[in-house]
Amino acid sequence: MLVAEDIHVTLGSTEILNSVSTHLNAGEITTLIGPNGAGKSTLFAALAADVEPTAGRVVLDGQSIETYTPKELALKRAVLPQDQVVRFSYSVEEIVELARLSHETSPDEDAQIITDSLDRAEVEHLRLRDVQTLSGGEMSRAGFARVLAQTTPVLLLDEPTAALDLRHQELVLRNARQLRDFGACVVIVLHDLNLAAAYSDRVIMMADGRIVADGTPEDVFTSERIEAVYRQPVVVTSHPTRGCPLILSTD
Ligand code: ADP
Ligand code: MG
Repeated sequence: MLVAEDIHVTLGSTEILNSVSTHLNAGEITTLIGPNGAGKSTLFAALAADVEPTAGRVVLDGQSIETYTPKELALKRAVLPQDQVVRFSYSVEEIVELARLSHETSPDEDAQIITDSLDRAEVEHLRLRDVQTLSGGEMSRAGFARVLAQTTPVLLLDEPTAALDLRHQELVLRNARQLRDFGACVVIVLHDLNLAAAYSDRVIMMADGRIVADGTPEDVFTSERIEAVYRQPVVVTSHPTRGCPLILSTD
């Protein structure tokens, strides 16, 4: 669905991504993890067509991503950036409505999708609030509602849970899982290894601008690898109810 072909990104004299190649599949949640500065957001921006690679290319649904018009892109992929800043007095509802601009659907259908998306992100009660007055977590959920309302086959979410309380972290990722079940290609940058372990079909670990591991959470999350990449001692055990890997820092 979304393919990175030998991507290099150089900013100034710094090589930020060094030969990154991967296939991101429909019907899968793939998470990008790795320490600060690993290149996750840069890869994410290249996949979203927000950054043009210095070399290599991104192919979306069989077509080079730079050949899409903005409107075509908006119908194919929705992007939740790491920091969303809105400098104007829009209501939450207006922000979410923007997601329907590129669609040719009827006003009734749009209204239904918007209400449904506000509900799923649990921001329905904030519908008429000025987004500039929201807390970080509320803003993040409003952005997530916008992404849901875009109803695209590809979703790119950069740290969607970073500002969220426990319940809403799980809520966002359960929503992602539901989209995956309906066939979406979901790519999520996550810092919380335990959330990644619980919700990913596939984990791509990055370090120093490269992919250093790619596989199921069970494959990728070994204590040796995490300790080497994050320079932090951990034990990896099994989650008592979810059965997925559970990563705990030690010392
Ligand atoms: P991550 O999301 O994994 O934390 P990023 O992709 O944001 O990492 O950044 C990767 C590296 O590139 C970091 O070391 C960052 O400081 C560096 N970087 C990002 N943007 C620029 C830039 N415009 N010029 C130079 N270095 C940059
Ligand atoms: Mg980042």
